[in-house]
Amino acid sequence: MAEILKDINLAARAIREGKLVAFPTETVYGLGADALNPIAVARIFELKERPSFDPLIVHISNLSALYKLTDDPNPYISILAQKFWPGPLTMVLKKSKLVPDIVTSGLDTVGIRMPDSDIALQLIKTSNCPIAAPSANKFGKLSPTKAEHVIGHLSDVDYVIDGGQTTVGIESTIIALSENGFRLLRPGVITRGDIERYVPYDETHEEGDGVAAPGMMDAHYSPEKPLFLLSDVEGLKLQAQRGIYIQFRNAPPPGFDKVLEMAPGGDLKKYAVRMFSVIHDLQLRNIDFILVEDLPEEGVGIAIMDRLRKASFNHKASVSRFLHK
Ligand code: AMP
Ligand code: MG
Repeated sequence: MAEILKDINLAARAIREGKLVAFPTETVYGLGADALNPIAVARIFELKERPSFDPLIVHISNLSALYKLTDDPNPYISILAQKFWPGPLTMVLKKSKLVPDIVTSGLDTVGIRMPDSDIALQLIKTSNCPIAAPSANKFGKLSPTKAEHVIGHLSDVDYVIDGGQTTVGIESTIIALSENGFRLLRPGVITRGDIERYVPYDETHEEGDGVAAPGMMDAHYSPEKPLFLLSDVEGLKLQAQRGIYIQFRNAPPPGFDKVLEMAPGGDLKKYAVRMFSVIHDLQLRNIDFILVEDLPEEGVGIAIMDRLRKASFNHKASVSRFLHK
């Protein structure tokens, strides 16, 4: 059974002993282990049921740790670290010998970030080791933004630090760096435009070629109850009374009397903060499906739509269950 901890010192001792500790970051809750202890890291994959080809992000609390984990001489690294850390930006860099292969799924690169959360930073500092941590949920399922979401998914985790609701709400932006600049591997609240203010976008690669980001599947973040995007069900006659409509700007299609506005006023950052938590809550409500209005794909809307598309992917085929005969 998971034990809820308040004391960071106890949590840090658990990390040093090779145990798993779920902890809040600003993005989502992570399932953490000593990144330099391959056996502890193996337990992350086991508990999450995560495929071994899907590499983990390593979390650090200071820049000297960065230069122990990477041998990459790329000058863009320190510019971006200075501008965006602590914060929700992960850099995929050439790994040093110190990083165990299990962390990177055998790749010669490692994803590194410094989270912007006092609890996370203190935990890493007190543990005195980098912490490998994917999101603290079963593989492919909804990401946790509250301690109770973690316990719902991973009752076998050794410890959970409860830090309340996370403040960003979706996973970090992930980039790969080369001498030509950066490439976006996963969108997040730090947008391509934010990064381009300091480092050029690497235009020498076509979208989807070159550095792969394993673990980026079409289906991910998947809730138990079917979630559909409005654009995918256009023209279909849904049994509206069985569903709930998540509104951004436009009123629901006819018949939906349950409507939830995720971010009144249209603030996309607020939308991101609430999104997973609202979808978690809807799992417990007396509804059969969730219909989500598409968002404009600009700025943070790109990252949110990325998550919503993946959350809806496995459910697409089940829409026929909710149509009028
Ligand atoms: P998360 O599951 O949110 O912890 O994010 C982990 C994701 O980061 C993985 O699924 C990969 O897509 C990406 N990632 C981590 N390390 C690397 C790496 N060395 N090379 C490419 N992508 C990576
Ligand atoms: Mg995840």
